[in-house]
Amino acid sequence: TRSLVWFRSDLRIHDNTALAAAARRGPVVAVFLRSQPHWLRHGHGANKLDFWHRGVIALKESLTGLGIPLLHRDIDDFDEAPGALLQIAREIDATELHFNHEYPLDEQRRDQAVAKAFADAGLTARGHHDSVAFAPGELLTGKGDFYGVFTPFARAWQRQLTAERVALRETPAPQPSPPIASERVEEPTLPAPAVEASRWPAGEAAAADRLERFLRFRARHYAGQRDFPALAGTSELSPYLALGMISHRQCLQAALNENDGSLTDGDAGIASWVNELVWREFYHHVAAGFPRVCRHRAFQRHTEALAWRDDKAGFNAWCEGRTGYPLVDAAMRQLISTGWMHNRLRMVTAMFLSKHLLIDWRRGEAFFLQHLVDGEFCANNGGWQWAASTGTDAAPYFRIFNPTTQSRRFDADARFIADYVPELAELAPRDRHAPSAAQCSQVGYPRPVVDHKAARARALDAFKALPPSA
Ligand code: FAD
Repeated sequence: TRSLVWFRSDLRIHDNTALAAAARRGPVVAVFLRSQPHWLRHGHGANKLDFWHRGVIALKESLTGLGIPLLHRDIDDFDEAPGALLQIAREIDATELHFNHEYPLDEQRRDQAVAKAFADAGLTARGHHDSVAFAPGELLTGKGDFYGVFTPFARAWQRQLTAERVALRETPAPQPSPPIASERVEEPTLPAPAVEASRWPAGEAAAADRLERFLRFRARHYAGQRDFPALAGTSELSPYLALGMISHRQCLQAALNENDGSLTDGDAGIASWVNELVWREFYHHVAAGFPRVCRHRAFQRHTEALAWRDDKAGFNAWCEGRTGYPLVDAAMRQLISTGWMHNRLRMVTAMFLSKHLLIDWRRGEAFFLQHLVDGEFCANNGGWQWAASTGTDAAPYFRIFNPTTQSRRFDADARFIADYVPELAELAPRDRHAPSAAQCSQVGYPRPVVDHKAARARALDAFKALPPSA
């Protein structure tokens, strides 16, 4: 049986469930469908699209090593995917299509349309669960519902995890004679990315290298260092996980090796890192189990009535990193200049927008997606709704981070601030967290766009005015 493997956000030849399954059945041809207009319409930014493009080039090289040709086709919209894939299947005489599932609503609908077109044509299309240890629906509460709270989800995940679930899929043996030639991966016709390609080298080898360096130098200190943005204590693997240049199984296997065969006991750093990978999986399940979140709806329905403010000046100040709150501004400038932001700061900036400025979290979610190299619907939506207290396991609405306290606690010597807000580097470290009016005018840094106490009270009032949750 000759199969077509449709690559999407699973750009690797190692430990790829769909590729391994197809190769077991016979010869394989790979395809990547690119729809730049679709991605732009859905808010993906140039940084991520450039990384994706470079990832496809790296994938093509790896596939070439296996004698697997990669076809690369441009389409205007994913509505065209069923027709395009059927046509390719006919061109190369393939009877089966294999792909790895993606869980947000649009992606599921796209794949259902493809499966139907193949079935109607008498061909087979098979989706594989690959990006998670448990397919959505496999882990449910005692009542048979999807989990809407992380901790019991994580407990169930740990309890039910078996060695088989995280076993690596086999890499296909090289095919002796490729049936057709690979196609050129045309340069994208997109706005230029703001971030240098060297900041995020694409492909499996770069991802594996990052994982190895993380385990060698950072993992053991992760629990103590992960919250301090100046320390670079996290793996920075998120772009690679988001586009599948590395799999969660490869990460978990590496963690097991490093930690005497345990994911939860032993080294606290590794156990804490594994917990973050479980958060990633949790938000995949949330997107699949509560599809309203994929339709721009709040997870907590009663919060839909919240009176968000339309504050153009405040929004622009936040986007541009000039709110007058140094840690918030440093974080936003990190996002703009590197395409990535530290997790602690994603929480701080998201809470600042949704609480202090009382601006709709959906606007922040879209802005993040526009700039992040790791922009990924499930984690981004989950993180935003958490911060805005509209989501699963949300921060209670009365817990509003004080950005200055966060700054003193997580960037105590204000090194991170100095790195990203250079005008404040002239001040003594202790003055960088909340510069005085005189210091602001001396170094040319804005005064706070809102007063913390007043903004906090305004947010509390807005939440208190909501109808009770169902
Ligand atoms: P590490 O600390 O090394 O963690 C390892 C991996 O676990 C990460 O690479 C990531 O895949 C996963 N992970 C870690 N934390 C989380 C989390 N809280 N939720 C889900 N997965 C997690 N992550 C994205 O991958 N894409 C996004 O678009 C995204 N948007 C976010 C928006 C907001 C408002 C918030 C609060 C968080 C968001 N996150 C997102 C989650 C998290 O901030 C990043 O995954 C993390 O900062 C990436 O850095 P790292 O690879 O060094 O993580």
